[in-house]
Amino acid sequence: MKERLELLIGQEAIANAVDRLAKAIDRDYQQRSPVVLGILKGSFIFLADLVRAMQTPIQDIEFIRVSSYGSATVSSGQAKILGNISEATIANRDVIVVEDIIDTGITTSTLLQALQRYHPASLKLCALLDKPDRRRQPVTVDYLGFTIPDRFIVGYGIDFDQSYRQLSAIYTLKEL
Ligand code: 5GP
Repeated sequence: MKERLELLIGQEAIANAVDRLAKAIDRDYQQRSPVVLGILKGSFIFLADLVRAMQTPIQDIEFIRVSSYGSATVSSGQAKILGNISEATIANRDVIVVEDIIDTGITTSTLLQALQRYHPASLKLCALLDKPDRRRQPVTVDYLGFTIPDRFIVGYGIDFDQSYRQLSAIYTLKEL
């Protein structure tokens, strides 16, 4: 299958957004050391850049997998948390969940509800991208990079069928 990529958000704009988000987190977390919890795999590059731009000391960095689209470009409508996150990692901690993109909201709302059961001291969501047009579950994004239109995107950690994660910028992808 052939695909065409078109630049949506360039490297400099991404770097500026990451810096802005890191500064906002630094302002909010003075005297606190949060646990940063990345949702694999798409957030790995964003998270790596974000934590290096932050001055706030981080207590722990963890990752969790939530089932994704597989090789389709539309959501299955269901999210499944794969693997376990220990209660000790979350209980009484300040937790920041880091996600690449919020689409229907199903992934993040499922995960945030599950994490609430472990009684974190606080729970915030940081996402690079938001596609609000397709929301099916309400989600509060506390730290947001960009709102984007309803397009399928790749790059900067985000894949199509596991490809394109290594691209430094964000592109829309069209199947030809
Ligand atoms: P949601 O559960 O909010 O519908 O979707 C969240 C997940 O769907 C993201 O973590 C990401 O893996 C995937 N996703 C949503 N929109 C896109 C997109 O435009 N491109 C890619 N590659 N994945 C997306």
